[in-house]
Amino acid sequence: MARIVGGIGASHSPTIGFAKDTDKAADPAWAPIFAGFEEIKRWVKAQDIDVLFMIYNDHISSFFFDHYSAFALGVDDSYLPADEGGGPRDVPPLKGHAALARHIAAALVADEFDMSFFQAKPLDHGCFSPLSMIAGGKEGWSGSIVPLQVGVLQFPIPNAKRCYKLGKSLRKAVESFPDDGLKVAVMATGGLSHQVHGERCGFNNEDWDEKFLDLLENDPEALADIRLADYAEQGGLEGAEVIMWLIMRGALSDKVTRVHRTTYLPSMTNIATVIYEDLRGRPSPQEVEAYRRHMTHELAGVEKLEGTYPFTLERSHKAFRVNDFLHRLIFPEHRKRFLEDPEALFEDFALTEQERDLIRGRKWIEMIRYGVSFFVIEKMAAVVGQSNPEIYAAFRGEDLATFQKSRKVAMQYSVAGGDKAKELGKR
Ligand code: FE
Repeated sequence: MARIVGGIGASHSPTIGFAKDTDKAADPAWAPIFAGFEEIKRWVKAQDIDVLFMIYNDHISSFFFDHYSAFALGVDDSYLPADEGGGPRDVPPLKGHAALARHIAAALVADEFDMSFFQAKPLDHGCFSPLSMIAGGKEGWSGSIVPLQVGVLQFPIPNAKRCYKLGKSLRKAVESFPDDGLKVAVMATGGLSHQVHGERCGFNNEDWDEKFLDLLENDPEALADIRLADYAEQGGLEGAEVIMWLIMRGALSDKVTRVHRTTYLPSMTNIATVIYEDLRGRPSPQEVEAYRRHMTHELAGVEKLEGTYPFTLERSHKAFRVNDFLHRLIFPEHRKRFLEDPEALFEDFALTEQERDLIRGRKWIEMIRYGVSFFVIEKMAAVVGQSNPEIYAAFRGEDLATFQKSRKVAMQYSVAGGDKAKELGKR
């Protein structure tokens, strides 16, 4: 079983990454920022942490208002820094612990958190700012991460209590991951008090920040009961992102040992760093077993259904590149290139030889077995002028006529629109 060793809290202001990139460590105005993060760096190294569960919010870099979700868990095995307007930071990519992420995903959904999942998305300063401070040198953080992006910038957002409860489930998720000796620390980022928009821009409240840190350590349930509007009043609207720290605190024992705490308010944001060590014992093997059963309850046995391929995060990850390639057929330009010069397009998207062969050969059932989603296959079918029933027949190894005889009414249709639909309608 994996183990939560402790929790870290740290601001994630872009100031921090900027300080690192511009070598401000010796500048007295900036030095306290480095001193705080140095403690975290030391602790992470001393505890030999393998995985940092990084709780952060994206600042409309990789997550936009066209589809904004509350709890988005990264399930990838590598993460690049995002371009936030002036080019991405010159920092190495972070390794993702995809297996742990998938396990946590299953656990949180089993505990009725409606998660979303992301891959192939770069992470912005919310995650990279604090991490680049604790990474050693050019090579970056040597362990791996599981990022949780919390959507706190477009209301309605989850409240503090929801975050705290998610932390409780996160603990059970980590403790039931079957990797003995894996050491995990939960790192919450954001805050403390600040407001960066509107006439109230520049608002800080250091008294509230100290109180927040006292309560976080000793009475997190009291913080879980505070309304979002009250967080905004006390610590600024953007400062209300500190509700993310409740996820970290919820994942720790009721009593914790504080090993570090600092705050420093040089400009816009009160930059904090804290470390807590966990005090609770490990769950019994029976408790772990019971939780694993609970996690896998909904899908247990589904693998016995013949000719059925549930689209899991594992399949999604394995076949992401080819699914992405085919999904892009919704864009006219990609469609045009696909029809005119598919080989050049395969090359541009670095598809493997196996993936190219599946597409070239219209190997529909092999595509399903490989991990291609049916719902991009039907897009490709529409583009190459095949109907849905033709695809269904191919899946079953039948000709169209045989397949149609198995239906009450023989119908031809497709997801194609416009002229393509009309063409198919005449067949
Ligand atoms: Fe933020």
